[in-house]
Amino acid sequence: MTTATAAPSLTDAVRERVLSLPAGELPAYVYDMQALRLHAEAVRTALPGCVELYYAAKANPEPEILAALGPYVDGYEVASGGELAHVAGAVPGRPLAFGGPGKTPAEIVAALELGVRRFHVESEHELRMLAGLTRQVAPGTRVAVLPRFNLPVAAGSLAESALAMGGRPTPFGLDPSRADAVVGLLTDGSCPQLELRGVHAHLASGLRAPEQLAVAGSIVEWAVRLAARHGVRIAEVNVGGGMTVDYAAPEERFDWSGYGEGLARLGARHPELTLRVEPGRALTAYCGWYATEVLDVKHSHGEEFAVVRGGTHHLRTPATKGHDQPCTPLPVEDWPHPWPRPAARGERVTLTGQLCTPKDVLARHVPALGLRAGDRVAFALAGAYAWNISHHDFLMHPRPGFHFLDRH
Ligand SMILES: *Cc1c(COP(=O)(O)O)cnc(C)c1O
Repeated sequence: MTTATAAPSLTDAVRERVLSLPAGELPAYVYDMQALRLHAEAVRTALPGCVELYYAAKANPEPEILAALGPYVDGYEVASGGELAHVAGAVPGRPLAFGGPGKTPAEIVAALELGVRRFHVESEHELRMLAGLTRQVAPGTRVAVLPRFNLPVAAGSLAESALAMGGRPTPFGLDPSRADAVVGLLTDGSCPQLELRGVHAHLASGLRAPEQLAVAGSIVEWAVRLAARHGVRIAEVNVGGGMTVDYAAPEERFDWSGYGEGLARLGARHPELTLRVEPGRALTAYCGWYATEVLDVKHSHGEEFAVVRGGTHHLRTPATKGHDQPCTPLPVEDWPHPWPRPAARGERVTLTGQLCTPKDVLARHVPALGLRAGDRVAFALAGAYAWNISHHDFLMHPRPGFHFLDRH
């Protein structure tokens, strides 16, 4: 039996909003924008000057979030034509890097027309296509290219990684065996407008700082050796995102200070290089809450279930990652009906949603003695890969509200 850990503490602003919303306006995503700013500022402060910080927009592309991150990031990483247009509209004029597998010619043209001059290139085919389209759409301009490589990483460092994308067969990036050919294409005059800026590698998600540092170190050493072999200079190595968010320990944070110190040491060994990181989850997960109310409580074959308004069609994270979403029950004393209020008799309650599928589970065996219909529940760590990865239309329930709480 898995058990949920200690309930995470809500900020006062979030608690107040969750308790004051009418039931009909739940579920709701509630974002603490002040908490987001403080966290992003702490991340930026922890990183040394040789490190550029880009936000991977796919983690949460809400315009308010993109804008709030503005002062703390150097730019945004986008991975589709849709994200490109959206992010360019939400944070006009900010630098964008265009990554992601399977870029279409129309997406590349749109990026060039929007002024994007930096591409993370995923294949030789894409490189040649980019060269041809740049000649047509943006003659005379220079476009910075970072080929993305699927590098082998020390097996130990990735053992616990939930989503390893490197060092094993994947559709992401280029096989390292093609590195010499790709550098050749970028330096032998075949692609005169494209400039080999450096190397990109995003190898895993869910790594803690020491493993992230080990991976970053091996990417940088590999890139430096590649450049030396070809007698070319590279200016930048992008070591990706994937800093862990521990859903079983919601109060913990990735060790940004330790990571920053390690990157500073790495940077000092290679003063010619700019290092770049592009986290998504670890920047925005903590500022978001999915708040709802308990609709019903039942006892079934020895276990307690609370059915909440909403479900995994709004917050798919626990279903996709196979975890229990950390949550905090908020008691509500009102009970408007003349009949008895459904309440949990046991100590542990499984929180499910309104979908007609056994997969619609938000958190199993949550310590919630006495949880009642009408009580509220706030699910934490819902600020990344939450609403925007969910299958909203399945069963056609209404969409949640969105609240961006700001205190100045
Ligand atoms: C998804 C992704 C990221 C961000 O990953 P997180 O786990 O959210 O930090 C960064 N770079 C690339 C290329 C990605 O695909």
